[in-house]
Amino acid sequence: MTGLVIHRAHLPYAGQLDPREAARVDLVVIHCTELPDLAAARELGMRIHYPESGTGHSGHYYVDRDGRIEQWVPPGRIAHHVRGFNQRSLGIELVNRGRYPNWLNSNTQIMTEPYAEEQITSLIRLLNFLCTANRGLRWITGHEQLDLEKVPATDDPGLKVCRKRDPGPLFPWKEVLNSIPLKAYR
Ligand SMILES: [Zn+2]
Repeated sequence: MTGLVIHRAHLPYAGQLDPREAARVDLVVIHCTELPDLAAARELGMRIHYPESGTGHSGHYYVDRDGRIEQWVPPGRIAHHVRGFNQRSLGIELVNRGRYPNWLNSNTQIMTEPYAEEQITSLIRLLNFLCTANRGLRWITGHEQLDLEKVPATDDPGLKVCRKRDPGPLFPWKEVLNSIPLKAYR
């Protein structure tokens, strides 16, 4: 696995997230941050959403546009990154603007930033490493496939838009699926 470096950058609350058996984890969920950069994603990840446990929303891994990989939550802890599937999944966030900054505006639902080549190369390396480290992993999917909720658009409550669209139509599923041992989850 040449060229794979995972920088440990655990969130301050990572140790308060519920532990789990790594062998029970069978699914990888791909996200994009829908924010301008990694620093903005960190700010969001640091926010406390669950005061009783002092934890918030984040993925396990973040892949920046230049291919840098950071681990924010160890895989043996349950991160809050997708409704209904957190317990069994690993969340990987790619830095990408997505619909930023008008996420739910009906006029800005098209995601226009392509994924960088270095970023996808790093993602594929990371996925192959994770499959070697955790033999239970079987499936991969996008956040948009697991959260199908539609919500009123911010500019016109009479219109409905997808709450989640990440990683979106520009994510190179074919290239990624051809390079890893995981299968598309349906
Ligand atoms: Zn997401």
